[in-house]
Amino acid sequence: MIDTHIEVIKRLDLDTIPDGCFKKFRVHLVSNGMGQPIYIPVMVAKGKKEGPVLGVTAAVHGNELNGISVIQKIFKQIDVNTLTGTIVGVIAFNVPALLNQERRFIDGEDINRIMPGSEFGNTSDVYVYRMMERVIQQFDYLIDLHTASFGRINSYYIRANMKGKVASRMSHLQNADIILSNQGADGTLRSAATDMGIHAITSELGDPNRFQKGMISAGIEGIFNVMIDLGMIKGKIVPPAASPILCGRSYWIYANEGGVLEVLPNIVDEIKQGQKIAVTKNIFGDIAKEYFAPEDGVVIGKSVHPINQTGGRILHLGVREANS
Ligand SMILES: [Zn+2]
Repeated sequence: MIDTHIEVIKRLDLDTIPDGCFKKFRVHLVSNGMGQPIYIPVMVAKGKKEGPVLGVTAAVHGNELNGISVIQKIFKQIDVNTLTGTIVGVIAFNVPALLNQERRFIDGEDINRIMPGSEFGNTSDVYVYRMMERVIQQFDYLIDLHTASFGRINSYYIRANMKGKVASRMSHLQNADIILSNQGADGTLRSAATDMGIHAITSELGDPNRFQKGMISAGIEGIFNVMIDLGMIKGKIVPPAASPILCGRSYWIYANEGGVLEVLPNIVDEIKQGQKIAVTKNIFGDIAKEYFAPEDGVVIGKSVHPINQTGGRILHLGVREANS
């Protein structure tokens, strides 16, 4: 069935959407090499009462899929008659990469390193620039939904600049296992949005290439919590089952010996300095190298792909803030 009833637009203009209206759009952002449009699927629910604009974005990396289901399910539950303000769901930000089932854009760029792009730049620059300019810049708040990369798994964790009061509040409302405070590397959607005056956080919802029910439910809960907190919908904020682990910094531990890798702790495990965290074996099954935690911390994410070249990632270690 072809959904021909879905309106094609070149630019999302929230002011032209009537109050109390639910809309699905295909945003014609760029065209491919045959001149055929690449459409970005966007949903908008505009309440009858004026209020904040919350944007939710998914699949900035084309193989990070849980956020797609989060957005679909959120919009199924929203009643525009009682909604205050507007929620915009960019269901798939990086459509070409999504179709290729890959993280990166078709020109090989990681688009979450080049935001906000440029008007007259290369393929990925222009794509990103138009997305920011035609869609994202209208948001007051942004929750950008990601997952781990191929071959790795993540805890449910939030990246945010916790020095920002609003971003900190939004982060706590996600009920995640871990909150990692950082400024946001240059070129991320979060930092580009922040530069536009948007309160933005990144939510890392589990693993790539699949829909995970538990992670999707957790993501939905976090977004509804923010909407309640902003006065967009009525309801009771769901408190966290446990306080999140607050990390002030984090880093990846890399393998300096190629081989068959086994990472020992699970995600969200707290580990101690000196604890054995990984073993690399050669292809005959003999132990080649063992790795130990350089300091106390928590496992934010880890590699699960056994084949690990020299320089491959082992474990993403979060370090608790001094007094958390
Ligand atoms: Zn990502």
